[in-house]
Amino acid sequence: MPGEILLQGKNRTGTRVITRFAPSPTGRMHLGNAYSALLAHDFARQRGGKFLLRIEDIDPGRTRDEHVAGIEEDLRWLGLTWDEPPILQSKRLDLYAAALDRLRAAGLIYPCFCTRAEIAASALAPHGSGPVYPGTCRALSEASRVARMAATPHAWRIDMARAVAVAGPLHWHDATEGEVVARPEAQGDVVLARKDAPSSYHLAVTVDDAAQGITDVVRGRDLFDATHIHRLLQALLGLPVPNYHHHAVLLDGEGRRLAKRGGAKTLKTMRDEDGLDPRALSEYLRNGARNFTTS
Ligand code: GLU
Repeated sequence: MPGEILLQGKNRTGTRVITRFAPSPTGRMHLGNAYSALLAHDFARQRGGKFLLRIEDIDPGRTRDEHVAGIEEDLRWLGLTWDEPPILQSKRLDLYAAALDRLRAAGLIYPCFCTRAEIAASALAPHGSGPVYPGTCRALSEASRVARMAATPHAWRIDMARAVAVAGPLHWHDATEGEVVARPEAQGDVVLARKDAPSSYHLAVTVDDAAQGITDVVRGRDLFDATHIHRLLQALLGLPVPNYHHHAVLLDGEGRRLAKRGGAKTLKTMRDEDGLDPRALSEYLRNGARNFTTS
């Protein structure tokens, strides 16, 4: 029926589907990255939608230019295509700065002068990927902030309690979990701009998902906690809320998430040294990578 054809490219809110793969160029792709890219790509392709590529290269300490080309090569090798030239976050710092300015004008962020060691020593409780910030710099007077900002490198943190109060109750639609109530407060006053980078992952990803018109964020379950923060930032910045699809994450033989830092085998090695056929590999991943455990 013509009606069905019209509906094919639409997501549950009736918009044309747009997904993205948003790798950080800190190394070559491994199977876990490939799995995520394939799922996001296929989600769009199966619905006649668009698949976009975004290079998340705002971490100056870990990002390498040569990995950008490497990631594109790996994606092409897997047979994936994207519909627009990739955007690079390092070229979009003004946008993140503008978002930060809005939050600053609303009194929702504050400068933080603490070192990692200080935070680790006084952290309230370990949580997820790091300790919850104890709020030390939230209590500084305006005068002391101004004086220290002139002399000391500083990050910008969200005043989580205030932000949550301003935003009110929030939720998002998650393909695996259904309607999820956002509870960003559990993660404390997270960093939105770092001492060494003008934006954090949280701020940049939220701004860019909106800027690229992403309707469906397809990414690993390991980023589920981050979505609580992104949902809050969307509310504070007046941005649209995509649907989320947090897929299972591939684990290695010891039950650990595949990671560049953990030395997971790269697609390049599988191609150059193991002579793997990319079609067989993508089919294997599309079939749920059966020899891998998932979480
Ligand atoms: N850049 C992030 C990463 O490589 C992924 C961001 C996302 O999909 O939201 O882990």
